[in-house]
Amino acid sequence: MTNPSSTTAGSGCDDTHADSAIPVHEALARIFAEIEPVQGGETLPLLDALGRILDDDVISTVDVPSHTNSAMDGYAVLASDLPVAGDAVLALVGTSWAGRPYEGSVVSGQCARIMTGASMPDGTDTVIMQEYAEHDGDKVTIRAGHKPGQHVRQAGEDIATGAVAVTRGTLLRPAQLGLIASVGVGEVIVRRRPRAAFFSTGDELRGVGTPLAKGQIYDSNRYTLSAMLARLGFETVDLGVVPDDRDAIEQAFRKAAGAADVVLTSGGVSVGAADYVTETLERIGEVNFWRVAIKPGRPLAFGRVAGTLFFGLPGNPVSVMATFYQIVQPALERLTGIDHVDPTVCVDAICQSELRKKRGRLEVQRGVLETNSEGAYVVRTTGRQGSGVLSSMSLANCFILLPMEQETVRPGDHVRVQPFRGLA
Ligand code: AMP
Ligand code: MG
Repeated sequence: MTNPSSTTAGSGCDDTHADSAIPVHEALARIFAEIEPVQGGETLPLLDALGRILDDDVISTVDVPSHTNSAMDGYAVLASDLPVAGDAVLALVGTSWAGRPYEGSVVSGQCARIMTGASMPDGTDTVIMQEYAEHDGDKVTIRAGHKPGQHVRQAGEDIATGAVAVTRGTLLRPAQLGLIASVGVGEVIVRRRPRAAFFSTGDELRGVGTPLAKGQIYDSNRYTLSAMLARLGFETVDLGVVPDDRDAIEQAFRKAAGAADVVLTSGGVSVGAADYVTETLERIGEVNFWRVAIKPGRPLAFGRVAGTLFFGLPGNPVSVMATFYQIVQPALERLTGIDHVDPTVCVDAICQSELRKKRGRLEVQRGVLETNSEGAYVVRTTGRQGSGVLSSMSLANCFILLPMEQETVRPGDHVRVQPFRGLA
């Protein structure tokens, strides 16, 4: 446990004290070690389950495909009639349509016209694509070179009756909803949504709709936090703004811990005279760490409050978003019960701007990613990168991730970029 009051390190952007902050990968490892997925499920109609995590295997009630059928438009034949050399002329006896099978049998010397998805007529086992057959009246001529069994989809070859179609722990995306419908299942059991309680701290904060007195600002962090949590599929409990007061913060903590699986706050985690969050956490919970080598956002507390997981995000609006996406979101995804968290996707891009940077922290700068006329990724800065400049997030479509040891980037240098699309 780190004791914030026992360190003399300053807050803000002074990199000379970066050694008391842990690297992002260590922060993530410490957090993952603490996370247990939420338990409990609910039954939902399939169409309401998009974005949820499956809490039970889905078992197929049918064979998929349900009948042996053709993968092509063409002619259903017997493999034994395929010519080894030269041509074979077959008598056309009927047609099998998708949903309207040919009811008769096809014997040696015969064939049936068949459409994609239509049942293979009795006796047939091979399909000749329309383009490779000559049709004249009731005669169809085929050449040598076809493979027995070609272009036929066997009943149950995708999923057999009783087989697991989708496993517990899978995130339900459009493909899974379609697959589950295709096995005849219309309701699914999904994991309950995790609940996050959050509040902002700061005497200066006012809610939108009230006029501002001198020195006051509007609380924007609850809006970004609430939206980022909603995108992750969390239920949210908004506990409003809490003043910089020990008792008020302790009360809010207790209320939040009792109401949710995870508690998040913003502000009050540095070492200013009115920063009571970490101190309160020490008194009624546990601090695992409270400083991470990331910019923006070095003061970032993680621990437990009254037994509940806790993230104390910084106060600056960009720091809130940067630390949420880099550190908190991967952790929260594990809370949902998903069996596999996709890796963070980054692309390599040519940087068009100078990006000032000192060694010592992972920097999460905000950029605009585009493709140039040759199809290569290029990225430029959004401009001012202050941790209070929320317009830098609003203008950006990506993070430019500059590793700890990186120094100033020059135009033309390659950088690692994390597109916002897909972040949540
Ligand atoms: P703190 O970490 O509490 O010292 O806050 C750092 C900076 O972020 C200060 O300039 C605060 O006014 C600002 N800030 C803190 N909380 C919020 C909030 N909820 N919305 C907007 N700005 C905030
Ligand atoms: Mg504050």
